[in-house]
Amino acid sequence: MNEYDSNRIADLLSTIDYKRIEEVEKADCFIFNTCHIREKATQKVYSDIGKIKKILRDKQSKPLFVLAGCVAQAESSMVFEKSDFVDIVVGPQAYHKLPELIKNYQSNKTKSFNTNLDVSDKFDSLENYKNISSKVSSFITIQEGCDKFCKFCVVPYTRGPEFSRCPDQIYNEVQGLVDSGTREIILLGQNVSSYKNKDTNLSRLIEKVSCIKKLERIRFTTSHPNDFDEDLINAFKYQDKLMPQLHLPVQSGSNKILESMNRKHTREFYLKLIDKFRDIKKDIEFSSDFIVGYPGETEKDFEDTLDLVDKVKFSNSYSFVYSQRPGTPAVDFDQIPKEVSANRLQILQNKLFDLQRKFNDSKVNSKTKVLVENITKKGNQFFGRNEYMQPVFIEGNKCTPGQIEIIEVKSSNRHNLWGTVDSN
Ligand code: SAH
Ligand code: SF4
Repeated sequence: MNEYDSNRIADLLSTIDYKRIEEVEKADCFIFNTCHIREKATQKVYSDIGKIKKILRDKQSKPLFVLAGCVAQAESSMVFEKSDFVDIVVGPQAYHKLPELIKNYQSNKTKSFNTNLDVSDKFDSLENYKNISSKVSSFITIQEGCDKFCKFCVVPYTRGPEFSRCPDQIYNEVQGLVDSGTREIILLGQNVSSYKNKDTNLSRLIEKVSCIKKLERIRFTTSHPNDFDEDLINAFKYQDKLMPQLHLPVQSGSNKILESMNRKHTREFYLKLIDKFRDIKKDIEFSSDFIVGYPGETEKDFEDTLDLVDKVKFSNSYSFVYSQRPGTPAVDFDQIPKEVSANRLQILQNKLFDLQRKFNDSKVNSKTKVLVENITKKGNQFFGRNEYMQPVFIEGNKCTPGQIEIIEVKSSNRHNLWGTVDSN
């Protein structure tokens, strides 16, 4: 979502004559769009500010520095105490105010922050600025915030309560993106499967945008297992443009831990949901997020997670050691020793990586449909993704970004596939 937000910030600032540049030394303005989900991401912000300061130490005038995103939201005016380099602090639901905040700073040089959580105001304002992304695969935020309050998570505090954008506004933005060359959209939300605006839920929204000619592929992320009704499950059967790959975070395979996390579902419920999808769509693949070393996690709980992984056979996953986040309930629970968590992460990742490798290898010597995204730096190689989001490098053929090609897969590793355009 930060990628989408960063692009929208660039769209906004182009109206006050800023443009993106690559050379750090030449920049008049820096905007860091930050993530607060784990401690490491937050710490990185201040060390990266330090790096920029160092690079610019010989510069005559100090550039304008904006801290945006969820660290800005969580730390608000405290940011100014931690770093005197920052001039403007703006939260993820207030960045549409940036042109105004920057102009104010330029005229009176006083530091300011805006951490309002009025998402509706943000999207109404953004509607007046064209989304100028011309990527073959583009993100579009359709839902923000969260009312679920898992006990480890900062999202409900940094992104605010659940909000779903108006379907017409989304449709128009997707149409604009398609007109500029987008062929795949990834509908985004912290709880995208709970999207609901009046009588439009996620399955209806997918139906609506899939009518857009030249839009070839639709995906959505991130979902919560509790938000799937029959219509949304069936969308994978009836909506041809919806790709057969679903990111469905489970976090843990232990019922005790799921309960302590406030996930409000059991492992049995999750496994049954996976079966339902596989019943209606044989070739669907799943990815997930996992947290290991959550407070109270015993060896047995961890084994339950490993067992769930064996049962589902995820094609791709993200896994993290539990990170204590300020203001969340789990901070006060008894913590697991760091070495135990690190060891468990290693064991889990070995299993997940092995599954990912096997899934990639299973595609070798078969054909796969790839939406070509771009030519690579090598020059005679193209990059795209297949229906399962597997990155595919196409070698020895000339391709057109935006086209779907049938690729004969020749080789693979854990991350990528390589192949050539099928000549038959
Ligand atoms: N809404 C999604 C997840 C959004 S946050 C869901 O409910 O599944 C993205 C991922 O970050 C989570 O799935 C979780 O695995 C991870 N995460 C969130 N808070 C974390 C924390 N305190 N420590 C470690 N990982 C965390
Ligand atoms: Fe965080 Fe997702 Fe839980 Fe919401 S549902 S609190 S975003 S992990």
